[in-house]
Parts: sequence; structure tokens; C-alpha cells
Amino acid sequence: MAWFYFLCCLCLYFSLPAVSLAYKIDQSCTQKGIEQDVRNAMTSAFEMADAAIKLLTANPRNSDTIELLGFLFAKDGVDPRQLLDNGGLEKTTQVLRAINNLYRDEVTGNAPVSINDVIIFCHYDRFKLIDKKKKLYRDLSNGIALKFDEQQCRGSMMDRISLAVTVNPISDEDVLMNGVKMSPEKPTQIQLCLWFVDWIKDRRFKLHNDVARSNIGRAVIKLAESKNFGLRQIDAFSLLDKVLLHEMTHGRGAYTNTNTDVENVEGQVGLADVSSPNGFLALFGWAAYGWKAAMELARKGDNLGGENAPDNNADTIALLGSVCKLMDDPSNPRKVDVKGRIIPRK
Ligand SMILES: [Zn+2]
Repeated sequence: MAWFYFLCCLCLYFSLPAVSLAYKIDQSCTQKGIEQDVRNAMTSAFEMADAAIKLLTANPRNSDTIELLGFLFAKDGVDPRQLLDNGGLEKTTQVLRAINNLYRDEVTGNAPVSINDVIIFCHYDRFKLIDKKKKLYRDLSNGIALKFDEQQCRGSMMDRISLAVTVNPISDEDVLMNGVKMSPEKPTQIQLCLWFVDWIKDRRFKLHNDVARSNIGRAVIKLAESKNFGLRQIDAFSLLDKVLLHEMTHGRGAYTNTNTDVENVEGQVGLADVSSPNGFLALFGWAAYGWKAAMELARKGDNLGGENAPDNNADTIALLGSVCKLMDDPSNPRKVDVKGRIIPRK
């Protein structure tokens, strides 16, 4: 019994300074002049999660919600109502709830953040070079040495889609405090890529609603549709708020599966960027990003709950939130058709 008591004390002791349950905007965003943009976008991202939870749990169910779930989660011939009845959308609802419960509040100043919280960074100055040859850096914000490669944000094939990168850092060196080993896990980091930060600064529109209203927004939508990128109108809405919702689903606070009972299956931290089932893109390991790829993943991916399933794909969840916010807008309710076009709700 004594050991149990000791363990409990230990847990309590370590959880005390770590109960902030929040997100934090790093001062790098203030230095880049986009702190308020990030804050507004986080508020909008939580509204997307709210709208999705509301529509997923509504009783009676709305036919537009059923249609959307069919697009994003159901294989051909499967009735999305069945998925709901059989608990198939449970994981998705849990991820959205975790994001809302764990990340919702903002902490400012020097308040501590827990390992389940998320910090948003807008430049790379916290990385100090240790070994140039090995590309080894130390992250001064959490003391962890890592290989940092800006390619994460600038790779040739990924150029158009790497707007941000999320990591759940774990130290492989012992961290001691008063002679006691501390958790090697550090708060989740969302790194906005520098080119995206600059783009946010130079554009007048940043959020879902802004892009719909502006002439520039319409131009972006036209461009997205005209180029042979496979992008759809709804993807032109993939601005800062949807990007942040996407990145939050990668956080350990949003989803952690420690079930390693099955042989060869490791625990999973955060949702994944599931590879596109589309032959050509799959060769490059291109993630199922955007409306068209998410639709294909729903048709050809694993069954819900699986590793390569739509409910394990970050962008599917971000698209769900993004469309649900459109649908739930009381002044101008809209929805998305099978081709990803935004149309009025009847
Ligand atoms: Zn991702």
C-alpha cells in the first residue's frame, strides 16, 4: 500500500505546476507582428471544433451533417447514419473535445505550460547551433537537443502544403529537479513556417470569414481551382485558423493512444498525416491534404479507427471543423458540395 501512496503523491506533486491546460503564443509571434492574428485564428479554430461537436451530437441529426460525414468518413455504400449509430465517429468527437478542453484558454507571460499544452512559435530563433555538420541544435525553450532542418517547412514536393509543423518533444537526456527525475516530455510545439508567417503579415485576410468577403479571397479561390493542383474551393479557406486546427490534432493533448498490446503496433501520439491513397501522390508519401484527397481517403482508406483511416488524418478533422463552422453560421449558413464548392444551405 505504501508504494501506491508514494506514487499518488508523486503524481500530484508533478501535476501541480502543470494544470494550466492551455495554449500559449510564444513571443516570437509578437516579434513577427502577428500575435493578435494568431490569437484571432485560435479563437476561430475553437469555434470550428465547437460547431463540429454540436453538429455531430445533434438530435435529431441534420441531413446536411449526414451528407458531410458521408463525404469525409464513409466508404461507398456505407450509410453515415450507421457510422454514427455504431460509435464510428467517437474518436473524432473525442479529439475535438480534447482540443476544446485542453487547449482552449490562453496563458500569457511567464505562466507555466504543461506537457499536454501547446505553444505556437512564429520564427526559429530559439534553435541554437551545437554541431553544424550534424545539423544539431538546442531548443532554448525546453533544453532539448534536436536535428533541426528548415526543409521541414520548405521541401520541394511539400512546398505548397507545409504551412506549419507540429512536434511533441521528448528529451533523451535525464532532466533532474531536486535529484528527482522529471518527465522527459515537453509541451507540444506548433511551428508556423517562416514563409507562411510572412504571407500572413502581407495579406489583409487571414481567417475563414475574411477570405469569403474579400476580392483577394475570390481571386485565391479562382487560382486554386484553375491550377491543376487538385485543390477545391473549400481548400482556399485553409488559412491560419484551419491550419491551427489541423496542427492541434497532431498534439499529444488531442490524441494519445498508449495501447501497445497488439504486436508490432506502437503507441500513437497525436493524429497523423495519413498518406494519400491516390497512386501518384502516394509515391511521394504526400499526405491526404485538402478536400479531394480527404474524399479519396474516405473511399479507399482503412475502416474508421485504423491507422490509415480518415479519422486518423489531421486534415480530415480540420476540414470537418471548417465546413461545420460554415454550416453553423446563423447569418449565412452554407455547406460544401461533393466537389468541395461552397454553396448556400437550403
Ligand atoms: Zn499535418
